[in-house]
Amino acid sequence: MNGVMSLPGSPRRTQSVTLAEAPPLAPPPAVRCRESAIFLDVDGTLLPLAAHPRDVLVPPTLLASLVRIRSLVRGALALVSGRPLADLDRLFSPEIFAASGQHGSERRDGAGRLHRLETHVALLHRLRPEIGRCVAEDPESFTEDKGLSLAVHVRGGPEVSDRLWTRLETLVSPHPELVLLKGKNVLEVRPAAMDKGRAVSAFLEEPPFRGRHPVFLGDDVTDESAFEVVNRRNGVSIKVGDGPTRARYRLGTPTAAVAWLARLSRDRP
Ligand SMILES: [Mg+2]
Repeated sequence: MNGVMSLPGSPRRTQSVTLAEAPPLAPPPAVRCRESAIFLDVDGTLLPLAAHPRDVLVPPTLLASLVRIRSLVRGALALVSGRPLADLDRLFSPEIFAASGQHGSERRDGAGRLHRLETHVALLHRLRPEIGRCVAEDPESFTEDKGLSLAVHVRGGPEVSDRLWTRLETLVSPHPELVLLKGKNVLEVRPAAMDKGRAVSAFLEEPPFRGRHPVFLGDDVTDESAFEVVNRRNGVSIKVGDGPTRARYRLGTPTAAVAWLARLSRDRP
């Protein structure tokens, strides 16, 4: 990870900052399901990153852990991903989890109600052909249109990423409704009004999440807004993998994260 992120609140919507390299972080402390709300990023956190988002599978053992934890936390478990909800449902089938998709642009709350942010959709639709033309200049990279956000999957290393970033920044920065974010091998164009932190805050306002201590596992720059929300509430923020972060704890790999969740699933009711 390169430690570069866009600040949604900054005057230039694609301004980059570097996160300070933190001292080594301890593994997370023991968490009690009885008082916790569990929030999980998916790609790079529970599952290793794949060449294409459709190339990943959820192992049955992981799914069983999540189902068990959801029961222990009385439903207060949500997936918080950049993927669309439909994609999450396909991956975790036959289970349907509370979830935030597309960096908070769509959210299925604990009661199964859908919340969608659509104020930026017409603008995104207008920019889509130009974004497509930018990406076509680097033929190994490709665009994933998620409906409420758009991901450019970068293939070809940091040079390609920098080149695409510069081109996309030119397109996106005049529009305050949108932000451009740089993740691992991906550039995301998403609405400025939403991010994973705001999605976690929204869950925590509602049952069954309300009144519980938040725990968030994430691996990428797009998870930093959620780490901040969790830290403000004295929750447990866990960075999966290397790199600078605002999280307070670290697990080295998705394998370690899945093992940690398997232990949590054996917590006493
Ligand atoms: Mg991730």
